[in-house]
Amino acid sequence: MRAWEQPPIPSLPGQAPLPTIFDTALGARATLERQEQAGLYVCGITPYDATHMGHAATYVAFDLLNRAWRDAGVPVKFAQNVTDVDDPLLERAAATGVDWQELAEQQIELFRTDMVALNVIAPDNYVSVVDSIPAVAQAVLELLESGLAYRLPGFTDEQGNQQPEGDIYFDLDAAQKLGEGSKHGWKLGQIAHYTPEEMLTIFSQRGGDPLRPGKRKALDPLLWRVARAGEPSWPAEGLGAGRPGWHIECSVISGSHLGAPFSVQGGGSDLIFPHHDLGASHSYALTGQPMARHYMHTGMVGLDGEKMSKSLGNLVLVSKLRQAGVEPAAIRLAIMDNHYRTDWFWHNDLLDKAKGRLELYRSALASAEGEADEAALALLASVRDALADDLNSPAALVAIDQWALSVVEHGGRGGQLVADLLSARLGVLLGA
Ligand code: ZN
Repeated sequence: MRAWEQPPIPSLPGQAPLPTIFDTALGARATLERQEQAGLYVCGITPYDATHMGHAATYVAFDLLNRAWRDAGVPVKFAQNVTDVDDPLLERAAATGVDWQELAEQQIELFRTDMVALNVIAPDNYVSVVDSIPAVAQAVLELLESGLAYRLPGFTDEQGNQQPEGDIYFDLDAAQKLGEGSKHGWKLGQIAHYTPEEMLTIFSQRGGDPLRPGKRKALDPLLWRVARAGEPSWPAEGLGAGRPGWHIECSVISGSHLGAPFSVQGGGSDLIFPHHDLGASHSYALTGQPMARHYMHTGMVGLDGEKMSKSLGNLVLVSKLRQAGVEPAAIRLAIMDNHYRTDWFWHNDLLDKAKGRLELYRSALASAEGEADEAALALLASVRDALADDLNSPAALVAIDQWALSVVEHGGRGGQLVADLLSARLGVLLGA
């Protein structure tokens, strides 16, 4: 699937240190290893309600990581999926009377436009789940044949509807046994570290079906949902027509584009469980390797003290802000004024502060002509250090504020270097 236009990434003098990041699975900081090439997978959108501020904050955070690697001299291979067939998308399409494929297409295009506006580096592989169905089906068949997956009989659901036989589930206990004795083996909860009760509650809240009759373990995730009337399905040899479960998609797509283990698996903190924990179980079962070396998660974004959600009708959309004339660079600055791991609230003061920053940076850059002086070079080092410190963008922005204020007040040089720094490391393009 087509990604989006690649933004310019200026090169900077010297080299940045490799960043230390917070690894959710480790429960601690880790310094990223120097590799010939880093592999980054960030779970993509289900194409409806794109691009709300929570999405934007997540993709900007991993864009900072992408830029940190590059500035440390490590090339990055970046892959991202689009969950372009899934229950929430189909439900939304049905509720609004739109064809699900049309809804997905519109929303994916809107997402691309937002990512270009926010100056997010495009994935090398932007992968549609629909396009990946043959590969996913092949993986499910492998799991079934190796005894790590099982088929369930039909049943009558809570609404009294007869559900067909043939849905395929992953056997978590079998996967865990597979890795026993190996230090790389997969264990339930190894990323999330939640209690069994927490896992069960969250599993039901995030698309899981712990009560499905016949499952060997309540948390066993769906791998393949056989065809139902009125739902899209694809033929699959050995499985029966159907469509994939959610976690297996990312395991297969990340594995085929980045291999295992790749460097960092990323997403919002609402993906820690079950998506990333159980996705890692599939990857391990398929490859005998951990899915990723590190797992990183971004905080949740609310609005004015409340959770941001469709049901509350308070989603802040990047496209709406842009339509209202807000400069995308201001949106990006407002996002980066929060550390990526914190939960934070979108509010107008944040945007006003970002607009003020843009103005300040523009005046400083315009007046700081000539070769970089000591202050500009010191700023380059401070920004690199701040971003190497678990992507501390708020600290990086404070350092730039101080430089800009001083230039506006006392004059200075090296505006071009600082403009390149803002663009290359923070993804802020100030334009003319
Ligand atoms: Zn994913």
